[in-house]
Amino acid sequence: MNAEHRPASSRSAPAKGSMGSARAPLPPELDLLIIGGGVMGLSIAYNLTRELARKRKRGSQSAPLRVAVVERSYLVSGASGRNGGGLRMQWGDAGNVALMRESIEICRRLAQELNINLWFRQGGYLFLARTESGERRLHRNVAVHEHVGAPTRLLAAREALELVPQLDVSEVRVAAYNPEDGVVFPWPFVWGYAGKAVEAGVTIRTHTAVEALEPSERGGYAVRLSSGERVWAARVVNATGAWSVGLNHDLGIELPNHPHRHEILSSEPLKPFLDPLVVDLETGLYFSQSTRGEIVTGITLPDPPGQPPDREVRLGSSLRFLSNVSRALIRVLPIAAHLKPLRQWSGPYDLSPDGDAMVGPSPGHPELIQVCGFTGHGFMMAPAVGRMVARWLADGQAHPMLERWDPCRFRDGRPARREDMIIG
Ligand SMILES: Cc1cc2nc3c(=O)[nH]c(=O)nc-3n(C[C@H](O)[C@H](O)[C@H](O)COP(=O)(O)OP(=O)(O)OC[C@H]3O[C@@H](n4cnc5c(N)ncnc54)[C@H](O)[C@@H]3O)c2cc1C
Repeated sequence: MNAEHRPASSRSAPAKGSMGSARAPLPPELDLLIIGGGVMGLSIAYNLTRELARKRKRGSQSAPLRVAVVERSYLVSGASGRNGGGLRMQWGDAGNVALMRESIEICRRLAQELNINLWFRQGGYLFLARTESGERRLHRNVAVHEHVGAPTRLLAAREALELVPQLDVSEVRVAAYNPEDGVVFPWPFVWGYAGKAVEAGVTIRTHTAVEALEPSERGGYAVRLSSGERVWAARVVNATGAWSVGLNHDLGIELPNHPHRHEILSSEPLKPFLDPLVVDLETGLYFSQSTRGEIVTGITLPDPPGQPPDREVRLGSSLRFLSNVSRALIRVLPIAAHLKPLRQWSGPYDLSPDGDAMVGPSPGHPELIQVCGFTGHGFMMAPAVGRMVARWLADGQAHPMLERWDPCRFRDGRPARREDMIIG
């Protein structure tokens, strides 16, 4: 790898230009091209540099690898710059609990490692169940957590009220709380990965789209870019999130993920009062308080009946969301009736039909690696997924989730296992 940029110099933000640029020279031949400069693409790039450095130290990697990330726009322009920054190990499946434990563990020391403030705050996640089926879900999940030794516990409604006295718990049957869950500020997370990847020699080219991938006679892909350049890459990672459908379709790869607009808003700042991120299991409402005091809230809002699933990313804000989220929020947090929303925005969820991501070689295209389908939880999984994919790319190391997330499972008709705790 060629290190053409200077190391990050400040603790709060890397020096200008050190996170890649629209003019970063792209080598004409690459060992690995990562398409998409969101948290997934950049976490993979950063972790790969670490794995390769480890191999060099052991003497098992000699020639440096030419690795580039190509991003159509600016680095936090996709879902990675538009999300709520929630991280939780409260999942229903033991594999997801273990993965998120690993991610949270990584996050504990990541600010130091990346030399950037991630605003990581472990205030916990508090799930509220108001129906019998919600109650059964939380009991089932906490049993899984007890089995694997995760510190999640069931709370009675009055105990939830002790944690957040402003809640209306009159309808709450049971709650689940894990004090190690938390929130981060998404942007520095992405910048931190980018800064360190560039420092280690990865080229990050922004404001340049991959327009076409053509299988090459010598193996790998001939890649056409919106800048008019053509490069060749031995292997390609498709980390374009909700945009992945278009790139795949052009190659004849049909995976069943599709984009879905997810809206979110933040309010005027209030004095700090809310430690955990609260989720109302029945409506899919979630809210947390940022370090600046804003209430950040979103809700699961299916498309209106009769509207076909999106084929392309659609952004924009709606009054339908504003009225739905306000009603749901006031029901659980009555003081929100006096709250003024300040900003409302949306981002693309990349919905997978069985709730599991698609990570690994594509059907019929073993050199094109998919890392997509992360619905509303890709940000929290990126630290562990980046490491898992980097180890697989560098050493062929298989992680148990890679088998479960195999993109070929749909083509092969393998039975789906639906995760119980997907919000969104
Ligand atoms: C409102 C909202 C709230 C969310 N809340 C949470 C949360 O609290 N916790 C959590 O874990 N997750 C959350 N998510 C989900 C999370 O944001 C995503 O799963 C995650 O960011 C996906 O990262 P990514 O890198 O795969 O995709 P993205 O961040 O979308 O990155 C893909 C990138 O690819 C680029 N691209 C697309 N096409 C091309 C091309 N042809 N050439 C080059 N580049 C291209 C795009 O410009 C984009 O930057 C939320 C999502 C939304 C929208």
